Amino acid sequence: MELESDYNSAQLLSFSAIRQVCERMSGEELERLRRMIEPYLDYRRQLDQFTRRHFAAFCRDACFQTGLSACCGFESIIIFFADQAINYLCSTAVEMDRILALLERTNRTNHCVFLGPEGCLWRVPPITCAMYVCAAAKEKVFGANPETAVGFDEFREAEKPFTRPTQPVLFDQLEKVFMAHGVATSSMWFHRSPGLIRLKRRHGLA
Ligand code: SF4
Ligand code: SF4
Repeated sequence: MELESDYNSAQLLSFSAIRQVCERMSGEELERLRRMIEPYLDYRRQLDQFTRRHFAAFCRDACFQTGLSACCGFESIIIFFADQAINYLCSTAVEMDRILALLERTNRTNHCVFLGPEGCLWRVPPITCAMYVCAAAKEKVFGANPETAVGFDEFREAEKPFTRPTQPVLFDQLEKVFMAHGVATSSMWFHRSPGLIRLKRRHGLA
């Protein structure tokens, strides 16, 4: 097996570990996990509706029709372990096989390894991707309708109870669930990133 990069290798390790643990979990444990992520999925559905409504037309003209896909033109975007766990829980076995197979191959494209012919291969793309809007799109969309900028800021605020560990947050809790099953991978940023650990300590969470 030839791996493109440490990045692909790290992604593969985390997804494989998540799959192994979930396959060992009881139906009750899996159900508990699914209930844990439901509020976040609601948030993501609303965010998705918002971005489709306000940005789809601009993005289609600026990127997709020209084949640039600038948002997905990077290797090594930041992906949290919780992003991976959530995507695993929302994907079919076939969808996950496809992602794992991609990570086992060399990425010879000039874009993100997860970008397929019909778009992102993730059912629930990483939060970093979901919240990213380029400066040109912001200028055009927010300029035409300033209320959209307010709405976007509200979504940024609404993300914090899931990802900003100044309080117990889903992204930290999901890492804990898998750590209790013996998983320790490099994408567990809520337990590895000095910045996030400091923030947790300041709020009595570590
Ligand atoms: S946000 Fe910007 S870079 Fe991303 S798809 Fe839209 S126009 Fe392209
Ligand atoms: S993970 Fe998906 S949305 Fe994010 S950059 Fe890659 S293809 Fe694009």
